[in-house]
Amino acid sequence: MADYKTSFNCPGCGSSLLTLEGAISMQCVFCGLVMRIGAPGRILKYYYPSDLDNFALKCAVEKHLRDNGRLSTVALDTTRLYFLPFYRFRGMSYSLMSEKKYEDDEIELDQAVIPSKTIFHQRCRHFDLTIPAFENKAFGLESLGVRPEVIPLSVFAKDILLPRSIPLGIRVSPDDAKQSAMGMFAFNLGFALEGKEHVISEMIGEGLSIIYYPVWALSATVGGMPVTYFIDGLSKRIINETSEPFEDRSGETGLVIGDEFKPIPHRCPNCGADLPVSEFSLIYYCRNCHKSYIVVSDGYRLTKTRSALHEQGKDYFPYWRFQFKGGRGESSVGEFAKILTGEIPLIAKNKAKNAFYLYVPAFKMPDLDNMTTRAIRLCRTQPRLELSEDEITPAADMILPECEAVELARFYWQVIRSRYRYLNIPDYVFTQGSLVGQGELLWLTMTDSTGPAKSRVGKSSISAR
Ligand SMILES: [Zn+2]
Ligand SMILES: [Zn+2]
Repeated sequence: MADYKTSFNCPGCGSSLLTLEGAISMQCVFCGLVMRIGAPGRILKYYYPSDLDNFALKCAVEKHLRDNGRLSTVALDTTRLYFLPFYRFRGMSYSLMSEKKYEDDEIELDQAVIPSKTIFHQRCRHFDLTIPAFENKAFGLESLGVRPEVIPLSVFAKDILLPRSIPLGIRVSPDDAKQSAMGMFAFNLGFALEGKEHVISEMIGEGLSIIYYPVWALSATVGGMPVTYFIDGLSKRIINETSEPFEDRSGETGLVIGDEFKPIPHRCPNCGADLPVSEFSLIYYCRNCHKSYIVVSDGYRLTKTRSALHEQGKDYFPYWRFQFKGGRGESSVGEFAKILTGEIPLIAKNKAKNAFYLYVPAFKMPDLDNMTTRAIRLCRTQPRLELSEDEITPAADMILPECEAVELARFYWQVIRSRYRYLNIPDYVFTQGSLVGQGELLWLTMTDSTGPAKSRVGKSSISAR
């Protein structure tokens, strides 16, 4: 996945620093300041600077005219720099499709053909989309597509823009942007269906941010006619033109969305010691007073480090688990064994009284299909776990906030129940009341440590106590 770089000035020493867009914490390499720069649920705003002067803009238009075989003179009237807001939406998409298989290829007329079995296909992918947050179509820019990563993003604040630049108003809400993203996704999925039926899709967001993209509007008289050219502020290419008089004042009435990028000290709320830093981890361990914290939108929440041996090996990976209640009051493994009849491990007597949980991996893994298969297997196995609060060495960063994990739990339940026709009734739809209490974060050992992205936070950053 392409990672956008962001530049900002260290609040401690003023040095220019680079980080990844969406990063959670970092340390200034010059003055050592440890800071938190992001949190789940916060929408930060960035922009690409563009400092083309009138001469460069006029040259860009003249080149465009020459390339199109026109030798007109350009009498420059005005130039304005507009900043076009786009939502950048990054995450994972999950879909389940079903396909009916017939035993006999020869279909007799007048006879109903009954499929011998239904096969399910899952498709899980990472996505990274940009969706316009503005309405004006005149600029001719619908998406940022794949942009060169040479130029880092800068932190957006109205007062640091050039005096004659105009940010467009945000007219699309984050929810509407998510809907458009799902629409684009469903459209793409349509091509992949090929005789399959779509059962369910979920989009799990990892990050949402706003990126202001620079587009210059150059108004001129060309061959005696007034025309406005729209020029990409980075590539200097002409992306659109209009002969209508042009002005966009939407910035005066746009939605107020997004938080200012404001690094704050990244310290233990209990003892004040600096916490370790990591690009994307949501969990931090205080080496000084031995407490662990989950980063939440408005600060830190104290958490415990619970772990258990699951598969062989010493590598611990983070999982969310949610106690799940069936639509007819099923809550124990024994009760679920009666409705999920094909799941042999559930029948084991020694766990019949245990609560039934949905397990959601909370680490990053490049192969989402593989991760989904493993997670669903865990839900179908309902392992007996001996939980401990001993120190562990995490093998991956915990990157998934609880609210996103709930959405994934809903997808897994849908996948599990889709195989049982009699569970396909409203009673067994995953609703707000399906989960009992809050999620629990657990660290479980996993045999295959080659798949997941390795943790960079180091040994002591999240050990238990
Ligand atoms: Zn510094
Ligand atoms: Zn502390």
